[in-house]
Amino acid sequence: MHSPPSPSTPPVPSHAGNAAGASWLLRAENIAKSFGPTIALARADFAVAPGESVAIMGPSGSGKSTLLLVLSGILTADTGTVILRRPDADGFDDLAGLGDTQRSAFRLHRFGFVFQQGMLIPELTATENVMLPLLLAGIPRRIAEPRADLELQQLGLDELGGRRIGQLSGGQAQRVAVARALVTRPSIVFADEPTGALDSHTAAEVLDTLLRAGKGSQRAVVLVTHSEEIAARCDRIVRVRDGRIEDAA
Ligand code: ADP
Ligand code: MG
Repeated sequence: MHSPPSPSTPPVPSHAGNAAGASWLLRAENIAKSFGPTIALARADFAVAPGESVAIMGPSGSGKSTLLLVLSGILTADTGTVILRRPDADGFDDLAGLGDTQRSAFRLHRFGFVFQQGMLIPELTATENVMLPLLLAGIPRRIAEPRADLELQQLGLDELGGRRIGQLSGGQAQRVAVARALVTRPSIVFADEPTGALDSHTAAEVLDTLLRAGKGSQRAVVLVTHSEEIAARCDRIVRVRDGRIEDAA
């Protein structure tokens, strides 16, 4: 059995939290990941506090997506630890120490994801797409459906519920993807270039939807973006180069 790290170890990395005293929600230390001869991540440290939004920036191929995949437990790092505080703030889980099934459960219950292309199912309605993570979590349809509609409503998207994804604009579809990421009330939303395919006005709307959802809750948002404009609206910017996180300027 893997034993979780005790609260006294390890020390807080230099990239932790924005606000003084803000305690972290997810913390990665010394994570490295190679694909054959390619070093995608080399000894990166990262932390995000509850309610904090962090933009990850860097040149193409610098390791941003790999960082996101390792932080969210989709990929396992070759070395290092990724630890997530439990919702009751009492204890930790080390993602690398979990088996595949447990990591899947983590992703389903504690994380939300938004990708550049929303990865929605075009033949299904917005409501049906937003319901999917709940159905996967074993929640019956009669409960999942009103919750999906409520989520859409809270994001100002009520009128889209009955529309098929294929009938929505790119920006509308991406906001539905945000609703789907939030419907399980995750601790952290990970977004990989969620606005990359949108014009800047629409991108700002999608970002608003994403960030607004974090405010007032303790939900953290970690997003990869190429847009300085988008990044500037986040609480903090982390820059990645050659698989390393550059020190804050
Ligand atoms: P970014 O998101 O910053 O563009 P990535 O994290 O996708 O960068 O990739 C970092 C490096 O790792 C790149 O050189 C990329 O080609 C390589 N890489 C990423 N994923 C894989 C993979 N599944 N197999 C092989 N190489 C990969
Ligand atoms: Mg990428």
